Amino acid sequence: MPDPQLMRELKAVLDHGLLVGAAACVAFECDALTAHRRIPELVALPGDLEQVRAVMAICRRHGIAVVARGAGTGLSGGALPVAGGLLLVLSRLNRILEVDPSRRLARVQPGVTNLSISEAAAPHSLYYAPDPSSQVACTIGGNVAENSGGVHCLKYGLTVHNLLEVKLVTIDGELLVLGSETGESPGLPLLALITGSEGMLGVIVEVTVRLLPLPERVELLLAAFADVPQCATAVSRIVASGIVPAGLEMMDAPAIRASEAFARCGYPLEAAALLLCEVDGLDADVALQLERAQTILRECGATSVRVAADAEERRRMWSGRKSAFPAVGRLAPDYYCMDGTIPRRHLSQVLERIDSMSREYGLPVANVFHAGDGNLHPLIMFDAGNGEELHRAERFGAEILELCVAVGGTVTGEHGVGVEKLGPMCTQFGEAELEVFHAVKHAFDPRGLLNPGKAVPTLARCADYGALRVHGGKLPFAHLPRF
Ligand SMILES: Cc1cc2nc3c(=O)[nH]c(=O)nc-3n(C[C@H](O)[C@H](O)[C@H](O)COP(=O)(O)OP(=O)(O)OC[C@H]3O[C@@H](n4cnc5c(N)ncnc54)[C@H](O)[C@@H]3O)c2cc1C
Repeated sequence: MPDPQLMRELKAVLDHGLLVGAAACVAFECDALTAHRRIPELVALPGDLEQVRAVMAICRRHGIAVVARGAGTGLSGGALPVAGGLLLVLSRLNRILEVDPSRRLARVQPGVTNLSISEAAAPHSLYYAPDPSSQVACTIGGNVAENSGGVHCLKYGLTVHNLLEVKLVTIDGELLVLGSETGESPGLPLLALITGSEGMLGVIVEVTVRLLPLPERVELLLAAFADVPQCATAVSRIVASGIVPAGLEMMDAPAIRASEAFARCGYPLEAAALLLCEVDGLDADVALQLERAQTILRECGATSVRVAADAEERRRMWSGRKSAFPAVGRLAPDYYCMDGTIPRRHLSQVLERIDSMSREYGLPVANVFHAGDGNLHPLIMFDAGNGEELHRAERFGAEILELCVAVGGTVTGEHGVGVEKLGPMCTQFGEAELEVFHAVKHAFDPRGLLNPGKAVPTLARCADYGALRVHGGKLPFAHLPRF
C-alpha cells in the first residue's frame, strides 16, 4: 500500500486523475510486449502541464520511480510499470495547440496521436512524415521517446529528423525547452539526446513538429518474386540506382498470406516475397523514377510488377502491409516482433539464416519489414501457454539481434530497447559506451527514478548475459556466420 502522505499529496494535485489498486490499474499492466506484465500500484492521469510538474516534484521528494506512458503500443516493454513506482499516463494531454501552414509546423501535446497531426495538417496540404504502422493509436510523446520510424522514414527520416522543439519536465518538475521552431539551437544538441531516450531523462509535455507539403504525385508499385534473394537484390539495386523511394517494404510468403487473409488487399498468394515501392514528388520526376524502378524490378526477376491504378488501390495495397502485425497475430496464440537493422547488402543471407534458425528453434517466423532501411521485423510465432515456448522465442529473438550486430547492424531499428533488448545491448556496446550512457542518465536523473531498469543494461547484467563487446575486439558469438 503506497505511503498515505504520498497519496494525500497526489490526490490534492490530481483529484480524479489518480487510480489506485489492482482493479483500477490492471488496464495498464503492459504495453504491446505482452509477455512482460506488472500491475502498477499507482496510475496518474494528469490533465495539464502543471499537474505533470507537480506529480514529478512529489515523486522526486518521496523517491518514487516514474514510468511515462503514451498509448502503450510500444513493442519493447518501455512503458512496463516498475515495482513501487507510479505510471504517468500522458493520454489526456491530447490537444493540437497550433497548426501553422506559413511556418509549416504543428505544436501539440504529447498525448496527440501520430495520425491526427497529419489529419489536422491535411486541409493545408501538409502532413507529418514519420508514420509508424501504429499511427492511429500511438502518441507523439511515445514517438519522440522511441525515435519512431515508419514506411516513409527511408526518404523523410525518423522522428528525430522531423522535430523542431520539445518541452520536457525533469524529475525535479522543472520545464526545459529543447530545440527551437527555426530548427537552429545553440548549445549542446539536447533535442537529439532526448529523442529515443525512452522516458529515462524526462517527461515530454509538448512537441513542435515540422510539416511537409503533400507530394504532387504518388505512385505505388507492387512486385512479386518467386525467390527471396531476388527480392532482396532488388532492394539494393533500387537504392543504388539513386532512386530514393518514399517507402520500400518487403514481405515474405507467410506475411503475404496472413495479410491477404486479414486485409483482402490483392497480394499475390503464390509469391515467395513481395516488394512495395512508393515513389513521390514532382510529376515528371515520379514518372522517371517509376519507369526506372519497374525496369530494375524486372531485371531482378520479378514475376509481376503492378502499379496501383489510383489512390484507392494504393490505400488497399498499403493496408495489407500496415495490418501485417495483427494479421500474423491471428496465426498463433502469441507473436514476438523483433526489430533490428542490418546493412542492406546482407538482407538475403540474414533472411536465410533466420529461416534456418526458425527450424532449429521449432518456431515459425513471418518477415515484414522496412527493407530500404535494412530494418528487419521478424515475427516469431509461439504459444506462451505451452511449456517453455516463451523462453525459446526470447532466445531465438536474442540470437536474431546478435546476428544483426555480427553483420554490422544494430539491436534496434525503431522499437527501442525497453526491457526486451537489455541483453542484446551488451553485444552491441562495450563497457566504455555503457558507462557514458549511465553518466548521461545520472546528469538528468541522479537518483535513478525515471523509468529505472530500462534501455541501458548495467555492467552486472551484461556479465550475467555472458556478453560485453570487447573494445575494438571480437564479438562473443563466434558461432554465428560471418558474411
Ligand atoms: C501494430 C504495431 C505496429 C507498430 N509499428 C511501428 C512502426 O512502424 N514504427 C515504429 O517505430 N514503431 C512501431 N510500433 C511501436 C510503437 O507504436 C512505437 O514505439 C510508438 O512510438 C509508441 O508510442 P506510444 O504512445 O504507444 O508509447 P508507449 O508505448 O506508451 O511508450 C513507449 C516509450 O516511450 C516512453 N514515453 C511515452 N510517452 C512519453 C512521454 N510523454 N515522455 C517521456 N517518455 C514517454 C515510455 O516510457 C516508453 O519507454 C508498432 C507497434 C504496434 C503495436
